[in-house]
Amino acid sequence: MFVLTQQASIANHFLAELRDVNIQQDRMRFRRNLERVGELLAYEISKSLPYRPASVTTPLGKSDTRLLRQSPVLATILRASLPFHQGFLHFFDHADSAFIGAYRGHHIGDDDFEVEMDYITAPDLHERTLILMDPMLATGRSIEKVYHALLRFGIPAQTHIAAVIASPEGVGYLQKRMPECRLWVGAIDEKLDPHYYIVPGLGDAGDLSFGAKL
Ligand code: URA
Repeated sequence: MFVLTQQASIANHFLAELRDVNIQQDRMRFRRNLERVGELLAYEISKSLPYRPASVTTPLGKSDTRLLRQSPVLATILRASLPFHQGFLHFFDHADSAFIGAYRGHHIGDDDFEVEMDYITAPDLHERTLILMDPMLATGRSIEKVYHALLRFGIPAQTHIAAVIASPEGVGYLQKRMPECRLWVGAIDEKLDPHYYIVPGLGDAGDLSFGAKL
């Protein structure tokens, strides 16, 4: 698995601003930082994709290069993932997109919950590269449920899971339950709290991006 902040870089500034309880109140900056981490992870993932030789005609001659064989499909869980998704689209500008409405629904006991899904739209995924993203990889259960729902649209050639911040529990869960998928995260934090929020994390990524919901 790839962890962006394992090596110190400008990405640390984006993560630090996302987490900072004062700076994160600037909603536009918060969304932009999610986009920026999306851009950096898109670049890292791009290094692992298949390329084909190509030639570009310049005003002065020809330049040999390698271009993506195929644009990926970017699958996003509404609503917190929208700015992160936009960052991926800045780099994979010809990508197709899939959208899924998934949320923490029916509570089981005090702390546990069911993952509810009520909307899904996707292109044909057969033999495509699928990048499934969620800024906060907490338990991993939403990603797992969404992934299996997406497989109804075709079996991808490869699947990448991207998150800005992951919990060790979520990473362990996905590595066990979806070993065929590659994980790309901004940072791995300490733990989940009893309400399945990531600690220290950043809070609620959806609310910070778009405002509190009822
Ligand atoms: N979703 C969030 O927005 N934050 C978390 O810490 C976990 C899930």
